[in-house]
Amino acid sequence: MPTPKKVFFNGKIVAYEDARVGMLTHAMNYGTAVFGGIRGYWNDTEKQVFVFRPTDHYKRLLDSAKLLRMQFPYTKEDLTAATLELIRVHEYKEDVYVRPLAFYSDEIIGVRLHNLTPSLGIAAIPFGRYVDKEEGAHVTVSSWQRIGDNIIPPRGKIAGSYVNSAFAKTDAQLAGFDECIMLNQQGHVAEGSAENLFMFRNGVFVTPPITESVLEGITRRTFMMLIRDELKLPLEERPIDRTELFLADEVFYVGTGVQLTAITQIDHRTIGTGQMGVQTARLRELYFNVVRGKVPKYRELCVGVY
Ligand code: PMP
Repeated sequence: MPTPKKVFFNGKIVAYEDARVGMLTHAMNYGTAVFGGIRGYWNDTEKQVFVFRPTDHYKRLLDSAKLLRMQFPYTKEDLTAATLELIRVHEYKEDVYVRPLAFYSDEIIGVRLHNLTPSLGIAAIPFGRYVDKEEGAHVTVSSWQRIGDNIIPPRGKIAGSYVNSAFAKTDAQLAGFDECIMLNQQGHVAEGSAENLFMFRNGVFVTPPITESVLEGITRRTFMMLIRDELKLPLEERPIDRTELFLADEVFYVGTGVQLTAITQIDHRTIGTGQMGVQTARLRELYFNVVRGKVPKYRELCVGVY
């Protein structure tokens, strides 16, 4: 993956090579960083890059930072403006991925969250798919348990907690699966390594509530809105058991990276027909039109760069 020419770093746009950290950086040693993942979508008709829900993503970034006691002089609007500027500087005319990172940059020894100095960087790169098999993934229920709110709060995007995701993702892929589903400390379905999860069973969509050890996903919120307002089908937020997934008609992941990825097999059990389900396909088409700024009703969620 090529590195970008420039990044936003502590208030200004600088050459990528000039945004450096030293080996003793607190965040690198102790995982004391929070990050985000935002997509910009190229709309060829309008010759425009639309960034999807940037202020919602930056609100979550600042909330995640708050969990780690970080304070910044930036608002979510400031960070959105910096992101648009960064994409313009590169003159990207394609789909992009934006990675903000807020981290404790002190070069010191000592585990803590107080008396530290936060730094903030943003990088933007051209980006395609995050998961190869968006149309039908074969996944496994991980033997690694999802971390909980009293361990490292999964509602925020805290860098250190991604070691938990990495264990689960690597073991799934080395065993031949595309992705994993992690169970929380109560044994209920939580989420994937980097995605929230929905099932459709007996005419009702179900997703775990945000008290079930899941990230407070922006895409999750988008799909909850599309299910209610466009599909006009019932949606419940409630705990999900592992075996409910086996009996579901449709199961899918949502997230900025995976967009909407259909899960067609779980641990060698076929879900529904074994193909992407009807509702999943409807939602997927709708989502791609919304994020590219093609649905007037949801246009305000898309912020044009040029
Ligand atoms: N859960 C986890 C653990 C994630 O890392 C992500 C990706 N950010 C998601 C869910 C989806 O979140 P969002 O829709 O905000 O990208």
